[in-house]
Amino acid sequence: MIEMKVLVINCGSSSLKFQLIDSDSEKCLAKGLCERIGIDGSMITYTPEGGEKENTVTPMPDHTEAIRLVLEALTNPKTGVVKSLDEIGAVGHRVVHGGEKFAQSVVINDEVMAAIEECNDLAPLHNPANLIGINACKKLMPNTPMVGVFDTAFHQTMPEEAYMYGLPYEYYQKYKIRRYGFHGTSHSYVSKRAAEVLGKKYEDLKIIVCHLGNGASVSAVKNGKCVDTSMGLTPLEGLIMGTRSGDIDPAIIEFLAHKENKGIDEIMSVLNKKSGVLGLSDNLSSDFRDLEEGFHKDDANAVRTMKTYCYRVAKYIGAYVAAMNGVDVICFTAGIGENAALVRSMVCEYLGYLGVKVDEDANHKRGEDIAISTADSKTTVMVIPTNEELAIARETVRLI
Ligand code: ADP
Repeated sequence: MIEMKVLVINCGSSSLKFQLIDSDSEKCLAKGLCERIGIDGSMITYTPEGGEKENTVTPMPDHTEAIRLVLEALTNPKTGVVKSLDEIGAVGHRVVHGGEKFAQSVVINDEVMAAIEECNDLAPLHNPANLIGINACKKLMPNTPMVGVFDTAFHQTMPEEAYMYGLPYEYYQKYKIRRYGFHGTSHSYVSKRAAEVLGKKYEDLKIIVCHLGNGASVSAVKNGKCVDTSMGLTPLEGLIMGTRSGDIDPAIIEFLAHKENKGIDEIMSVLNKKSGVLGLSDNLSSDFRDLEEGFHKDDANAVRTMKTYCYRVAKYIGAYVAAMNGVDVICFTAGIGENAALVRSMVCEYLGYLGVKVDEDANHKRGEDIAISTADSKTTVMVIPTNEELAIARETVRLI
C-alpha cells in the first residue's frame, strides 16, 4: 500500500471531528474537534500523538474557517505533525447518507457532489453539513484528492425483503422510502476484523455486529455481505439508544400528539432527544456508566432500563440468527459494546439456545480485540473496538 497521510473529516452542522492518519503505520498522528461552528464561543481541541491536548477558544463563523484552523494546527511549527500541507496526500470524508446511489466509497468530483446533494432529503441534518465540509476542504486544499465514505454503503447489499417496509409501494418508487441502515463503516470494519482475529475467511462466516454507542444498531453479515440491519430510513429505528426510542408502534405518535397537544415536530423531538435510556430511566441518565452503577444499587429506574435495553438487543440477535439461518460470531463494539461488561453479560444470558458461554474474566478486559466466550462455547462472542476513522482512511488510500 502507498504511504500517505490521510486527513479524515467527520463534519456535523456545528461541529467537525478530524484525525490525521499515517496509512503505513495506521497510526493516528493527531486528532481533534471543532465545536460551536457558527455559534458564539467556538472552540478547537487539538491533540498531537503523544502530546498534550490543547483547547483554543476562537471565532469560527463557518466551516471553512474551522478547516483553516485544523490545517493551521496540523502545520503549527511547535505542536504540528506535518511541515506543510503538501504532506497530506488525501482527505477522507464521512458522509452520512448515500441513498441507493452509493454502495461503495467514491473519489469526490462534481458529479458525486451533486449525487450527495440529491440524498439531502433523506438526511436533512447530516448530508448538507457533510457537503459544507467537503466544500471547505476543496477551497483550502484544491489539489488534494478527496474520498467520500458513506454510513449507508455497507448495507446496500441487503435483499429487498430486508429493506422494504409494509407501506404502499408507490412511496418507495416516489420517495425511495426503505431501510438504509447506518454505522456501515463500523459494521464493516468490525465484522472483517473479527474474521481476521479468528483466522477465518470472512466469506465463510455468519456474523452479527452489535454497535452499541449513543446511537446503536445491529447488523447481520452473511458471507461477507450485510443482509439486514436495525436502523431504517433514518437512525431512529431499531434498538433503544441513548436518547432515541428505537422501534415503537407508529400509532403512538398520533396518540401522544392528541394527549399532549403536541405537533409532529415536537413528538419527533421527544422520540429523538428525550426517549431511549434517558427517557426510560425517568431521566436518570443516557450514560451507561450511571445506569450500571444504578443497577448495582438496585435503583428501579436503572434496573428497568438495563433490562429493557438488553432484551431489545437480544431480540434483534435472535431475529438475525433467523435471517441468516445461524450465526458463528457475535461482536460487541462502540462505547457501550466495548466498555459495559454488564450489558454484554445480560444480553448473552438470552443466548443459551446458541450454546453461548461467557468467560467473565475475558468479559472484564478492556481495549483489545478479544473473544469473551469460553473455548467450548458453540457460538463465539467477541469485543472488537471499532475504528471508523481508520476504516475511512483505508478506503481513501484504496481509492486514490
Ligand atoms: P457515539 O455514538 O457518540 O460515538 P460512543 O460509541 O462513544 O457514542 O458511546 C458513548 C456511550 O458509551 C456513552 O454514552 C456511555 O453510555 C458509554 N460508555 C462509555 N464508556 C463507558 C464505560 N466505561 N462503561 C459503560 N459505558 C460506557
